[in-house]
Amino acid sequence: MVKLRSLLTLAVASLAVVEGNYHIYTHQEYAVMACSGVIEKTTTFCPAVAGMGHHMHSLMPSCYCTNVVEMGSLLICLHQMGYYNLAMVKYLTKKCYPNHIPAATDALFFDGVYQNATQYVITPEETLNASLVTYSPIYVRATNVTTYYEAYYNRWSNFTLSLNLGAGFFALFAAYMIISGIGNWSLILFPGLVSKMNGPVSKRFRALVSLPATFRKDKNVPLKFWGVPVGYIPTRLESIVIALLWVYLILACAFGYHSVSGNPYWSRPMGEISRYISDRSGILALFMYPLVVLFAGRNNFLIYLTRWSFARFNTYHRHISRIFFAFSLVHSIGMTIYAFSYPTARYASWMRDPFITWGAVATVAMGVMLAQGVILLRRKSYESFLIIHIVLAVFVLIGCHYHIALYGYQGFTWSVVGIWAFDRVVRWIRMAGFEFQEATVTLKAADTLKVTVPNPTTWKCQPGQYAFISFMKPSSFWQSHPFTVICESESELSFAIKIKGGVTNGLYKHLITMPAHTAKIKVAIDGPYGFSSPAHKYNQSLLMASGHGIPGLYDHAMRLANTKHSVKLIWIIRDYKSISWMLEEMQKLRETKVETVIYVTRPNEVLDSPLGSSDSRVSFSDKDEGGKAETSNQLRVNSVDQIQKDLPHVSFREGRPDIDCIVKEEITLAHGTLAVVACGHDSMVDSVRCGVVANLTKSKHRVDYFEELQAWA
Ligand SMILES: Cc1cc2nc3c(=O)[nH]c(=O)nc-3n(C[C@H](O)[C@H](O)[C@H](O)COP(=O)(O)OP(=O)(O)OC[C@H]3O[C@@H](n4cnc5c(N)ncnc54)[C@H](O)[C@@H]3O)c2cc1C
Repeated sequence: MVKLRSLLTLAVASLAVVEGNYHIYTHQEYAVMACSGVIEKTTTFCPAVAGMGHHMHSLMPSCYCTNVVEMGSLLICLHQMGYYNLAMVKYLTKKCYPNHIPAATDALFFDGVYQNATQYVITPEETLNASLVTYSPIYVRATNVTTYYEAYYNRWSNFTLSLNLGAGFFALFAAYMIISGIGNWSLILFPGLVSKMNGPVSKRFRALVSLPATFRKDKNVPLKFWGVPVGYIPTRLESIVIALLWVYLILACAFGYHSVSGNPYWSRPMGEISRYISDRSGILALFMYPLVVLFAGRNNFLIYLTRWSFARFNTYHRHISRIFFAFSLVHSIGMTIYAFSYPTARYASWMRDPFITWGAVATVAMGVMLAQGVILLRRKSYESFLIIHIVLAVFVLIGCHYHIALYGYQGFTWSVVGIWAFDRVVRWIRMAGFEFQEATVTLKAADTLKVTVPNPTTWKCQPGQYAFISFMKPSSFWQSHPFTVICESESELSFAIKIKGGVTNGLYKHLITMPAHTAKIKVAIDGPYGFSSPAHKYNQSLLMASGHGIPGLYDHAMRLANTKHSVKLIWIIRDYKSISWMLEEMQKLRETKVETVIYVTRPNEVLDSPLGSSDSRVSFSDKDEGGKAETSNQLRVNSVDQIQKDLPHVSFREGRPDIDCIVKEEITLAHGTLAVVACGHDSMVDSVRCGVVANLTKSKHRVDYFEELQAWA
């Protein structure tokens, strides 16, 4: 299924790219353009036609193939310059037959025209009026042809070079993904081999490059200026890769330009060079485009190649988008400088050309997308961010599509359409697979909803996977939110959902009015997504969760419970009442060998007051009749003694844990390979990562860190 999906995406994307009919210029083309360009600069065989100036028309087969005097002059020039050979005959044949010369053309044909032309050829006077029509074949100056050749080569080989540099970018990024994918898949396929790769070099690489946050500790905690979040800082390896992408692309755009004096296209070197830079940056920007869209999609086949999380792809999505915009901006600035090298009237009419207008629309829309995509706005209202983002993305797509049509690069935009459409179709197929089940949604404890839903699919639930839920209510059916799946049984899934300010708050308001705070709500489920961390491939695991990060790690603990593996599950919660929404699951751990420790950071809250009074939301029990009847679970969590009796297999510790100390102890005492898995609050997860990095060398066994928190909003 996965393979099929991947192949389909690849096929859609590559078909779309192949569809583009962009042009790669050859030596024969440059030679013919140089000769015919100089010929028509000297005299006139082919007058201008509608929509094409005299100079441009002279370079076309419709000129040199149809006018025998021009063809004769061209062949004389090609012979004179040493450009005439078998490859040239093939090229001319392809250009002239059958559209312009109905009879078959071959070497004999061209030799005949050449011999005939040599009998009548003239050398035009220096003072010849170039706009007058000549009726004899002409000789042209070799130095002029060389200049023209260089000018055309300069102009059009820049396109070929840009395409090659863009392909080089793809190749380098693909190499990085393949190497990373081999590393990640080896953890699953060859765990024995990986456990042996634990020498000083491997440890240093992981401690200094692949594992740490870029700077000190923060990866999931966003960077803040004056208390305002401005963005996530990637891991150090991701930052290095992003920096290298910038370096590669800046270098790719910075070199290989020179101006040709006597250039038939441009008289001003400034305009000429800015046009080259503009063409190069525009083409390089186009290579970013499919990646930007692919990396933002849920159904991105590269996830299966690399085993990267969606959050990592989202990191690259954001950074490559910035490159896309920056290079589009350079392209626009370059074109503006270039346009100023023309007279003002021409500039004004040029700017009104729809081809330019669409390019400007796309660039402006990209800029607005970057501005509206900042973390502050994503967090303020994710749904508004998403809708505006999609609308602007449509403008970028249409703008780019029409802007690049002239050059035959629409394969890029078609591939974007293919990637996007594929993602949407797969989402619908997945949702249809879940058949819009009726979920039981219950308000549990202070700030949590429990959603339980039958699983009609053959999907085997893996710990740590997540799915997007749409609650089929008029106010929310169009939204889909990610939640980690709890694998209750083969036929049932559940989700523990923290109540926040959007759709979850709407559900809370609905449930508070319902008897026993429970309702049946139809849901659409798009999933499963994400990989399970390969903790089962290690000898022991330290699973560290905080708050609502527990579902995936609980599933890991249950999965590992019946193996030889030794498991320690640490759950950090704010108060005792938070246990109520995972009470049944915690009780299930009793029959297992999982060592469970629960840290309660504010242990007094539940003891000082009855359940639910520490938070306005919690007072639901006072607001309605149904709320007055507390459930048996809630009654139990009112008493710490009772909780501890219910969960005798759990060690309770009150106060904040010293994460570094816990991680250090586990690593130091590890008796075999150790997987440290973390999910929960951003700062807790960052602390675990930091702890693993700091203590990686303290065990002689292989220690790996897996993060199940995904932060992209
Ligand atoms: C892979 C993954 C797994 C998750 N698992 C759980 C879980 O098991 N339990 C749980 O309680 N929460 C989980 N979350 C967080 C959960 O998705 C958000 O809390 C939820 O979407 C908030 O919905 P809301 O409309 O009430 O949020 P709002 O109040 O509108 O927003 C609150 C915050 O939630 C984030 N958010 C909102 N919508 C989305 C969205 N569609 N995608 C990503 N982030 C969003 C935004 O950053 C926002 O700041 C998970 C998130 C991810 C990315």
